[in-house]
Amino acid sequence: MHFAIVIKYIISTCATLCTAIFVPKIVRKLKHSLIALPVAFIFLNASNPIHAQSGRKKKDQQKGDGIITANLQRYIGLLASDSLEGRRAGTAGEDKTINYLKTAYAQLSIPPGDEDKNYIQVFEIDEGKLPSSSTYLKINEEALQKNEDYFPLPWSKEGTVKGASSVALQETGSPWWYDMKDALESNANDPHFIAEDHLKDIAKDAAAKGATALMVFNSAKKSDSISFNGKDRSTVSAIPVIYFTKKAIRKLGISSVSSPYIETAVAFTSKKRTAHNVIASIDNGAPQTIIIGAHFDHLGYGEDDNSFYKGDSAIHNGADDNASGTAATLELARLIKEKSAVPSTKKKHNNFRSNNYLFINFSGEELGLYGSKYFTEHPTVDLSKVNYMINIDMIGRLSDSSKLLTIGGAGTSPLWSDILQTATVTDFNFKIDSSGAGPSDHTSFYSKGIPVLFFFTGLHADYHRPTDDVSKINYAGETRIINYILQVIENSDGKGKLAFTKTREHSTGGERLKVTIGIMPDYTFSGQGVRADAVIDGRPAQKAGLQAGDVITQLGSHSVTDLESYIRAINTFEKGQSTTVTVKRGNEQKELQVTF
Ligand SMILES: [Zn+2]
Repeated sequence: MHFAIVIKYIISTCATLCTAIFVPKIVRKLKHSLIALPVAFIFLNASNPIHAQSGRKKKDQQKGDGIITANLQRYIGLLASDSLEGRRAGTAGEDKTINYLKTAYAQLSIPPGDEDKNYIQVFEIDEGKLPSSSTYLKINEEALQKNEDYFPLPWSKEGTVKGASSVALQETGSPWWYDMKDALESNANDPHFIAEDHLKDIAKDAAAKGATALMVFNSAKKSDSISFNGKDRSTVSAIPVIYFTKKAIRKLGISSVSSPYIETAVAFTSKKRTAHNVIASIDNGAPQTIIIGAHFDHLGYGEDDNSFYKGDSAIHNGADDNASGTAATLELARLIKEKSAVPSTKKKHNNFRSNNYLFINFSGEELGLYGSKYFTEHPTVDLSKVNYMINIDMIGRLSDSSKLLTIGGAGTSPLWSDILQTATVTDFNFKIDSSGAGPSDHTSFYSKGIPVLFFFTGLHADYHRPTDDVSKINYAGETRIINYILQVIENSDGKGKLAFTKTREHSTGGERLKVTIGIMPDYTFSGQGVRADAVIDGRPAQKAGLQAGDVITQLGSHSVTDLESYIRAINTFEKGQSTTVTVKRGNEQKELQVTF
C-alpha cells in the first residue's frame, strides 16, 4: 500500500486507531496528502448466519479451505522470505519475485497475459535527478562531502566554477555568498514566503549582476526547509547554486570576513529504474474481462524513504503488504481456472465463463502506483472491455475479534451493493468505502472509468516496518476473504458488463494542508507542473473549471513545478481565499479563478 497516499486514507478511515502510529517525520517531509478521500462509512454488520450446509458440502468446503490455507502459507512464506530482500522495485529482489510468480502461473497452467507472452510487462520509473559523481566542491583546497556538507540545488545550472570569493563583497566575475538569515527573519510572519522561491530570485539577480555562482548558507536559528528534491522541475538557474549545511559552515569557519577560494563542479544524472508487472490470463472467449490485481513490490531495505522504521538497515519483508494480496491473486487464479473448467449443467449456469480474467501483479506501487498506472496507459486488453477491477492490498491481518474487512470502491458501480450483500461467505464486519480513489492500484483503474473494488484488512503497527512478517498473518482469515471475493465474482457472473459510476470524494482536511483544491495528482507525471489525474466533483478545482489532464503550472504568485512546490504553494492559502490558477490544457494555457 502506498504510504504517502495512505496518510490521508488513515486520517479519514481510522482516526482513532492509527493516529498514534502515523505521525512520522517522513510524512511531514513528503506532504503528499492531497488525495481527497471518502465518503462516510457504512457499517454493515453482515455476520448473518452462514447458510446451513449439508454434511458433504461442509466437508468439501473444509477440504477446499485447507488447500487454500496451505497454498497461502507456501506463497506468503516464500514471497516474504529474506531471499527476496523486500521485493523493492527495480532490484534483484524484484527479479527473483517475478520469476517466482511466472513459475507459479505456469505451474497452474495459466498462460501469460502480456503482449510478448512472457508474463512480463516492463516499465520505467523516473525518480528524478541527483548530483552525479562528477559533482565536487573544494573550499581553500579542502574537499567537502557531497550531501553531508553541501548539495547543489536541483535547479542549479551545471558546470565548473573556480575563483576567489568574499563573503561580504559581491564582485563581478566571482562566486557570491548569500546568507538566508535576513530574509527568513524579515518574512517570519508572511505565510506566502517560500525560502526556495526567494533563493531563485536571488540567484537570478546575482547572475544578472555578474556572479559566477551562488553559495548559500543559513546563519539564522530558523530553518529554511531547503533540501534536495530530485523531482524538482523548476527552470534551471543561469549560474550554479550550492547550498551549504550548517555543519559545513561551522567546520569551515565561514563568517562575514572570510574570503574562501572556491573550486566546484555541478552535474546531475537522472535516476531511473526498470520495473516489471507480471500478467497472466484466462481467456474464456467472453466479451469482457475482469482484472484481479495486487502489487507485489515492497520497500526492500527501506532505501526509498518510505519506511517508518529508523534503525539499522533491515529487510522489509512485507508479508501483509503485499505478499498477502499477491498470494491471493495466485489462489484466485487457481480457483477460477478450476471453476471455469467445470462444464455447465442444466441446473447450474456455467459460472465464471462469462468473463475473461487478467491477473496482474504490479510493481512500483510503493513508489506511487507506477505499475498500475503504466498498465492502464499500456493495457494488454482493450480497457473499454474491462468489466471491473478487483484490487487486493493487505488482507493478511483480519482481526479475529473485530473481523473488520474494508471494501473500497463500493460506489463505483450501482450493482456493487447488491453483489456484495448477497455473498454468503460472511462473518465479517464490513467497512464499506464508496470511493473509487484510494491508497492503492485500483485508483489507476477508477481514473479510467472502470468499476473497482478494493479489499483491505486495515493498518497496523507493523505497516511499512521490518516487522511486517509471516508469523503475523491470519491465514484462516485470508482464506475466508478469498472465498468471499470468489463469491463476489460469481455473483457478478451473468450480469454483463457492470455500469460505472463516479463516486463523490470529499477531502477531510488533513493535518498538513490548510486548504485543498480537489484534484487527484498524477504521481508519475514527469513534466513541469502538477498534472491532475482526476478532478473531484464539487471541489474548488472543479468549480474553477479544471479538467482531468490539466497541468497546474502556477497558483497565485507561486510557480508550480512539481508536487513539492504545489504543496508549498497551497499551504500559503487560507480557506475562503481566491487566487488564479494557471493550467496547461494540451497546447493551450488557461487562467482560472479558484476559491479555496
Ligand atoms: Zn505499502
